[in-house]
Amino acid sequence: MTSAGARRAFVLGGGLAGIAAAFGLRDRGFAVTVLESRRWLGGRAFSSPDPATGWTLDNGPHVMLGCYRATRALLRRLGSEHAFQQDRRLAMVSRDAAGRRARLSLSGLPVPLAMPLALVRLPLPWRARLRALWGMAATLGGAPAHWTLADWFRRRGQVGLPDAWLWRPLCRAIMNVEPELASAADFLATLREAFAGRATTAAFWVPKRPWGEILGEPARRALAAAGVEVRLGARVAALPVSGGRVAAIGLADGERLAVGADDLVVSALPWFVAGNLVPGIASAEDPRAGLASSPIVSVFVETPPGAPPLPDDGPVVALVDGDPFHFVLRTPGAEARRFALLSGGGRVFDGMPVAAIGELACAQLPRHYPGFAVGPGARVRVRKEQHATFVAAPGGGARRPPPGRLPGGPANLRICGDWTATGLPATLEGAARSAAMALADLPS
Ligand SMILES: Cc1cc2nc3c(=O)[nH]c(=O)nc-3n(C[C@H](O)[C@H](O)[C@H](O)COP(=O)(O)OP(=O)(O)OC[C@H]3O[C@@H](n4cnc5c(N)ncnc54)[C@H](O)[C@@H]3O)c2cc1C
Repeated sequence: MTSAGARRAFVLGGGLAGIAAAFGLRDRGFAVTVLESRRWLGGRAFSSPDPATGWTLDNGPHVMLGCYRATRALLRRLGSEHAFQQDRRLAMVSRDAAGRRARLSLSGLPVPLAMPLALVRLPLPWRARLRALWGMAATLGGAPAHWTLADWFRRRGQVGLPDAWLWRPLCRAIMNVEPELASAADFLATLREAFAGRATTAAFWVPKRPWGEILGEPARRALAAAGVEVRLGARVAALPVSGGRVAAIGLADGERLAVGADDLVVSALPWFVAGNLVPGIASAEDPRAGLASSPIVSVFVETPPGAPPLPDDGPVVALVDGDPFHFVLRTPGAEARRFALLSGGGRVFDGMPVAAIGELACAQLPRHYPGFAVGPGARVRVRKEQHATFVAAPGGGARRPPPGRLPGGPANLRICGDWTATGLPATLEGAARSAAMALADLPS
């Protein structure tokens, strides 16, 4: 419970970063209020009921890696770490548009030893395997800030098969844009983090439950138990500044919360909102200074009972040369008839009706799974998230302020969120880590 006279802190936004920040502030003795515009917590990692099917659908499939330490610590606190299939080592099947199949499977050795052994076993011509090996070694070297990942491919001999079978699927999974747009330095930094340690750090953690049950609901209960006030449906509309401090928080319904001289305001708002609200952050609408958004489109499919199911290659399958869908994902333990297709970063779906998107997804599958067809009677649902991630483009560092106090910004304001400069692209781990970084200098 909050002790009388405790310093107050307002957390703006109840996504993963806001939830982590609220716990962090509470642990430091603050009386915390979370202001979240939606009727639930969890931000982009949310799920919602689909009335037409009765399914609970995620905003899109989210996969974690064993190296997501800050996220796992938060999930432990929420009691939901067990809601994942926790692989011990990385294994992933890829299928190209001619139906060829390859399995990248690491042993239990540390990744720097296991990865070369796995790469030489890929069913690619030996020259391509050697080039991929050389590329993996070259990741240790980093890249200049102005290079795209496609520049890195060219300069490190990774075009052709290594690009298609190894690097492009990894880039899509990590960066949610094509290599032609992605910052090589950010991609390589993330890869080094995932691939430099024990086998478990590079392994997938795939949720077995909808994200609402993993994050939003448990967070609501745990924050309440910790004495944090959570106000849902509270849309922050203004942050007036006076005397170099945020003086009040204006809500969209007209309510005005006074911010006292000792109170702290922590913005955990996404970039496309913070840029219009938080003094000192560039608007996402300003192409010279703001961050651009990258969409994710997910198509959830259930084939009819009795129809031949889609071959089950594990929870994550990369569709090599996949156009427009790049991955097939399965929820561990779910019926074999159910799976999802995911497309990240493409603008091809902008303005396209959901029925047409579903048809595109079903039409693509037989190219990667020869002989398979989504027959009549299949149930298909589509989720589109326009602001799934920000684009981590070359030289984007200047567009990502460090988590914490904004240089020259209001003295009582801190910022966090996956888009702040955590060294990671838009990920759950970036969000969790940003909250810890934003509060690091506060006495515990
Ligand atoms: C479909 C999809 C798939 C993804 N897949 C992966 C994956 O596989 N692995 C991975 O690591 N990451 C993945 N991500 C990215 C991951 O979800 C995000 O990086 C992470 O959830 C961001 O958390 P956050 O707290 O920084 O921001 P958000 O989750 O965006 O939280 C911000 C919160 O602020 C609230 N808010 C907005 N405006 C206001 C306002 N005016 N007033 C009050 N509250 C407001 C929002 O409602 C939201 O709850 C995926 C994202 C999507 C959409």
